[in-house]
Amino acid sequence: MAAKKVDSLYKKRSDGRKMDEIRPIAAKVGVVPSADGSAMFETGGTRAIAVVRGPRVLHPQNKRNPQKGILRVSYGMMPFSVWDRIRPGPSRRSEEISKVSEWALDAVVDLDAFPNTVVDVFIQIPQADAGTRVAGLNAAAMALAHAGIPMKEMVSAMAVGKADKTIIVDVDKDEEDFHDGEGATDIPMAITSRTKKITLLQLDGKISTEELKTAIEMGKKACGDVLEVQMKALKEANTEDKE
Ligand code: UDP
Repeated sequence: MAAKKVDSLYKKRSDGRKMDEIRPIAAKVGVVPSADGSAMFETGGTRAIAVVRGPRVLHPQNKRNPQKGILRVSYGMMPFSVWDRIRPGPSRRSEEISKVSEWALDAVVDLDAFPNTVVDVFIQIPQADAGTRVAGLNAAAMALAHAGIPMKEMVSAMAVGKADKTIIVDVDKDEEDFHDGEGATDIPMAITSRTKKITLLQLDGKISTEELKTAIEMGKKACGDVLEVQMKALKEANTEDKE
C-alpha cells in the first residue's frame, strides 16, 4: 500500500535541503590498512570509521560457539567529535548503539564457516552532527565486505524523522534539537540490499502510524541511495587491489 502524503508545514530546512534530501555523502574503503577490513562513511558533518578484525579465536573459551562465529560490535564517539568533550569509555548510549548495530549486522553476516571465532567490528565517530549510528552501520557493513566476511547481502542505513509536523530525511543535529512544543522525532533505520528486510528501526519522539509509514518509505529510498555509494566505494577498492 502506498504511504499517504503528509502536508509540509516545515517549509525550509536550515541548510536549504529538500525534505527528502540527504546531506552530501562520501564513502571510502581501506582507510585503516593494518585492519582486516575498514571503511569510512560520511553524511554532512557526521563521519564514521569502521574497522574489522577477525575471524579470530574467541577468548574466554566459554564464550565460544562451536557451531558458528560470533559478531561483536563496539561503537564509540571520539572525545573531540562534538563541541562538548565526550567522556572516553563506555556509556549507556554507546552500549545501546553497539548492541543495536550488532543486531542490524548479525542479520546479514554468515559466520557458519568460522566456529569458535569472533569477528570484531569497531565503530568510531571522529565528527558528529546527528545520525552517527546509521553512519556507523554504513561504514561497518562496508568494512565487513572489505574484510571478505561472508554476507548474505549489504546493509544500508539512514535516519528519518519529523520536525514541525513534517517528515524529513537525514536529520541533522539542529533538526534533532528542533522544538515546536512537541519536539522532533528521530527514526534511525537500516535495510538489507536484496530482501529489503529492516534490521534496525528505532523511534525517539512522537509520530502517527500514517506518518511513520511515510517516513519508512522515504527512509527506504534514502537507503537505496546510500547502497549505491557503498557499492561504488567497494568496487573502487576491488579495482585498486587488482592494479
Ligand atoms: N551528541 C552529543 N553528545 C553526546 C551524544 C550525542 O553531542 O554525548 C550529539 C551528536 O551530534 C549525535 C547527536 O547528538 O550525533 C544525536 O545523538 P543520538 O543519541 O540521537 O544518536 P545518533 O543520531 O548520533 O545516532
